[in-house]
Amino acid sequence: MLRDFQSVLKKLHLKVTPKRLAILEVLKNESVYLSPEEVWRKLRKQFSQVGLPTVYRNLEELAQGNVISKVTHPNRQLYYYFCLNPSHHHHFICLSCRTVEDIDFCMFRELEKRVKQELKGRVVSHILQVNGLCKKCLKKDGGSHA
Ligand SMILES: [Zn+2]
Ligand SMILES: [Zn+2]
Ligand SMILES: [Zn+2]
Repeated sequence: MLRDFQSVLKKLHLKVTPKRLAILEVLKNESVYLSPEEVWRKLRKQFSQVGLPTVYRNLEELAQGNVISKVTHPNRQLYYYFCLNPSHHHHFICLSCRTVEDIDFCMFRELEKRVKQELKGRVVSHILQVNGLCKKCLKKDGGSHA
């Protein structure tokens, strides 16, 4: 896995540093999205001297290179998530337990056609994050209110 991360970083012309690799490792080991503070706390077990601004900067660089994805939460806290799926897809995030699920279906093809036909423009990229409650949390919720 470490070797994979190295090739991913190299492809993006990001320098392979032990800290970047460790950040990716931390995110990869989690099935939930993490805040920069949480990544920092885990990272400090390995790099006791690492500062929070360094973690912020590295996460942002990795997100800009599309190595990790940024999660924008309605609580306005920023989170990050590492996804191994290389093909185009979208994320369904659970606002309660913070799990992330892949949505392989993309409905933007139709929208791109519309942009072309009606606005005479061309779509270059799009972002879609779907927020909600996962199956497990819905069950829990339903149980407590029943
Ligand atoms: Zn959930
Ligand atoms: Zn994904
Ligand atoms: Zn899409």
